[in-house]
Amino acid sequence: MSSAEHLIKQKFQQFYLERNRTLFSPPAASQREYGFLLFKGKFMVRHRTFKNPETLLTAIRDLSPAHVYFSTAYYQDPTASMDQKGWLGADLVFDIDADHLDTPCKIMHDNWKCKACSTVGKGSAPKTCPKCKNDRVEIETWLCDRCLQEAKEETIHLLEMIFSDLQMGDANLSVYFSGHRGYHVHLHSEDFRMLREEQRREIVDYLLGEQLDPSLQGMEDVPEGGVLILKGPQWGEPGWRGRMVRGIYEVLTKEGENLGLNQAQLKVINAWDKANFFTKPFWSSLKGINAGTWKNIVQRAVRETAAKIDSVVTSDVHRLIRLPGTLNGHTGLLGVNVPLERLDEFDPFIESIAFPEGQVKITVKDSPEFRIGSQNFGPFHDEKIELPTAAAMLLLCKHKAEPTS
Ligand SMILES: [Zn+2]
Ligand SMILES: [Zn+2]
Repeated sequence: MSSAEHLIKQKFQQFYLERNRTLFSPPAASQREYGFLLFKGKFMVRHRTFKNPETLLTAIRDLSPAHVYFSTAYYQDPTASMDQKGWLGADLVFDIDADHLDTPCKIMHDNWKCKACSTVGKGSAPKTCPKCKNDRVEIETWLCDRCLQEAKEETIHLLEMIFSDLQMGDANLSVYFSGHRGYHVHLHSEDFRMLREEQRREIVDYLLGEQLDPSLQGMEDVPEGGVLILKGPQWGEPGWRGRMVRGIYEVLTKEGENLGLNQAQLKVINAWDKANFFTKPFWSSLKGINAGTWKNIVQRAVRETAAKIDSVVTSDVHRLIRLPGTLNGHTGLLGVNVPLERLDEFDPFIESIAFPEGQVKITVKDSPEFRIGSQNFGPFHDEKIELPTAAAMLLLCKHKAEPTS
């Protein structure tokens, strides 16, 4: 273990040992599988079960792991091997992470490195190394206000779709900040517990607007007075119909220039009064925009307004997911429950701080500017400094600093 890991592990242990510490207890806690990722050797301990939150806390105090997970699934015997566990259903879970968002700040604070030829670059990692074409590209991510704000907005957008389109609002629904770059939405309800992988995949496809066919959403050429008039859905319609229209509005307002339209079409769009969106059927009022062009615009609009969920997390019925109330080894921040009515104002850099006291001396290699609490820090470059524990923990966990000996 590195000296940084040593210190992080020690701080984590102190945190879990606090006398009044309690853990989140999921419904049917004893039917869940638990897993711990240890600091030492990045070793995963899994297939564990606990009778109650107290025995789980004892194990966590003992192991002081970097990450604590529990299964979204319920099992007859959580300790058995995968095919012997006796699957009894699983919660429906959604994951929204800045990893899947296209935020403009990533170019400033994310780095990647090819494990084969050591080529480095800024921003999101390419699928394969541009130099040697190897696919073992390592990413070093950062979390910033902008990324977490967008993740939160996407979570709110997802919740709207869950409530209005899927009508799952009555389910026992909870939102959690992951302690890193995103939010998790858990639905603990008998109604969805037995959904199989394919059925969950269908929910995912709907939320992503996958293979959405505009002609099935009411977009069609209708003969009127001897000519074909393009008709389509309107702003306030439920589900994807209205969302498609709102997406078109966004796309036309935001990225008119980048839609691949010709000069004449751009001129039409720029001269067109966007109030038409709300007052009358607008599809045929944009002269010179044909059905093919509309299809492209609709595709962009669907991509723009789809829920930005991680499809693998939702369709996996054996998923291990972070246990709320535990520390995230990527940051030293806490995974926390965010009450729905507080989601809007929730500030992850204040409300998930686990180490509010003390100072730690560290040597920072390189770090972007960041905020913890109401204080800004950095940027740092090859510096020995003393920082509030929460800020120092973030840099240590992100491999950007070492404890100063
Ligand atoms: Zn390479
Ligand atoms: Zn960012």
